[in-house]
Amino acid sequence: MLSRPRPSIGKSISLGRTARGFATLMLAAAVAASSSVSVFAQGVPVVRDAEIEALVRDYARPIFKAAGLANDGIDIVLVNDQSFNAFVTGRRLFINTGALVTAETPNEIIGVIAHEAGHIAGGHQQKLRDQLDRAKTMAIIATLLGAGAMVAGATTNSRGLAGAGMGVAAGGGEMAQRSILAYQRTEEITADRSAITYLNATGQSGTGMLKTFGRFQSALSLAGTQVDPYRISHPMPQERIANLEALVKQSPFVNTIDPAALQQRHDMMRIKIAAYMQGQAAVARLMRKNPTSLASRYGDAQQTYLYGNPGAALTKTAALIKEQPKNPYFQELRGDILMKINKPKDAADAYAKAVSLDPARSGLLLVSLGQALMAVGTPDSLKKAVTQLNNGVGRDKENSDAYRFLAQVYGELGDVPAADLATAEGHYYSGDYKNAKIFAMRAQQKLKRGEPRWVRAQDIINYTPSNKLK
Ligand SMILES: [Zn+2]
Repeated sequence: MLSRPRPSIGKSISLGRTARGFATLMLAAAVAASSSVSVFAQGVPVVRDAEIEALVRDYARPIFKAAGLANDGIDIVLVNDQSFNAFVTGRRLFINTGALVTAETPNEIIGVIAHEAGHIAGGHQQKLRDQLDRAKTMAIIATLLGAGAMVAGATTNSRGLAGAGMGVAAGGGEMAQRSILAYQRTEEITADRSAITYLNATGQSGTGMLKTFGRFQSALSLAGTQVDPYRISHPMPQERIANLEALVKQSPFVNTIDPAALQQRHDMMRIKIAAYMQGQAAVARLMRKNPTSLASRYGDAQQTYLYGNPGAALTKTAALIKEQPKNPYFQELRGDILMKINKPKDAADAYAKAVSLDPARSGLLLVSLGQALMAVGTPDSLKKAVTQLNNGVGRDKENSDAYRFLAQVYGELGDVPAADLATAEGHYYSGDYKNAKIFAMRAQQKLKRGEPRWVRAQDIINYTPSNKLK
């Protein structure tokens, strides 16, 4: 299930149009916004999906390791935007769904990740990245896409961050303001060289990176209606592409292609994004090349679920499961379909299977399981739901949906302070500190002073974003 956090509707499938306001924001606004942006109040186009997050993490892990960067605990943040963008703050890798769906091979995305890792290893824009790392994910996304603009304009809490913003805006021109992490030409050359080093160390080709950058560089791209933020933050003059091409061709791995299993996962990811974000025509376009491939049949099952007959979708999904019984995401799809036709008990079984098969240990699958158990609604299943949802947020602290479900299930079980605390956590992790404090104080009134939940509530009450961002 591909979903994004939403205030009142459960899992969202139709993400609709996204803001295309990337362009005009400066970074100072970005981090300042973190004090008051609320995902409860605003539709923030972050996309959550266990399968895609795991795949992108698998792309990044070897590269990060080769670059001497943290090789685990990378948060993958999928931004629902059709343009091409990707950047790493250190702790988090932000990538647009548009970039993922455009790339025909894993190698194209891996190359971009390698280049970004090169910027990190080179210490480029380090100060800025540190500040972004401390900001809440939702606040960064809101700002990236323009949703945070009004909020940022209204707040005066931007001291100490303005300096970072000025670094980006120093060019003065509109172009400099268009991107959150903009690099110098010399930095680009360094990052390209580092990228090739990491790709060589992991036995991978630089061809995909060259293809992606070449596309940005081409006149065709310049003439296009869509402005890719990535192209603006990473200057790509002809000579840079020529130098990169020489490096790529020197590599002993220039002709190495992605392993077939990885390419298959990539194809399944692309068709999933098409099915959930772009509609049936986009799915048909991707299926055309090879209508009987596993990815095409996955896309077909998903669009049958989304736009057609759930019964037929179940049959198609069963065939997928038969072919890859250990694929957790086929089980997840089965669970989603069963939820849609109001069979929460069967859905819970499917999600439980997905959880047990998931090597990436995604918190999202646990939350789906918890949600299904909630829908079953017996006292026993509600208690199980609490356990699964808590396990889910244990793996995935910024999942504000999960806190909302937790609050609901605690409410149904009559545990009011726990419900208030879960609501406080949900607001806290989406950057809405004001409401977080209100609910934390409400929870404290019914808790014993000093007990663990009281202490956690106190942490939320004491939290001040300005201290955090210094
Ligand atoms: Zn760059």
